[in-house]
Amino acid sequence: MTDCLFCRMVAGEIPADVVHETDRTLAFRDINPQAPTHVLVVPKEHHPTVVALAQADPGLLGAVVRAAGEVAVQEGLATEDGVEPGYRVVTNTGPAAGQTVHHLHLHVLGGRDLRWPPG
Ligand code: C5P
Repeated sequence: MTDCLFCRMVAGEIPADVVHETDRTLAFRDINPQAPTHVLVVPKEHHPTVVALAQADPGLLGAVVRAAGEVAVQEGLATEDGVEPGYRVVTNTGPAAGQTVHHLHLHVLGGRDLRWPPG
């Protein structure tokens, strides 16, 4: 059994509020949402960071980004052919950025005005 939280969610061993799924990706609502919409998109395969995934399997990284776009449309954060009202896709890498789960995940955030720069 793996001790990776998101691997265990992908395996169905830990419940997740799933909003989108493909053969290679899973998206579920963040347990501690930072915006009205806060969804995490993960590859089903374990990769620790976005750069590690880009190096190991750029096609899978593309699939994760496409899934994030589909989640945004599904959640009303963008139209299929546009970017209104808009949303943020972010991934934390390493301790200084606050990465707490070491299985790549894209945060899809929206539903309110998002400030820049982030904290
Ligand atoms: O970028 P970072 O690694 O900090 O993000 C991990 C995210 O996973 C957090 O936003 C946290 O709320 C979320 N999480 C979750 N379900 C859990 C544990 C963490 O959605 N059971």
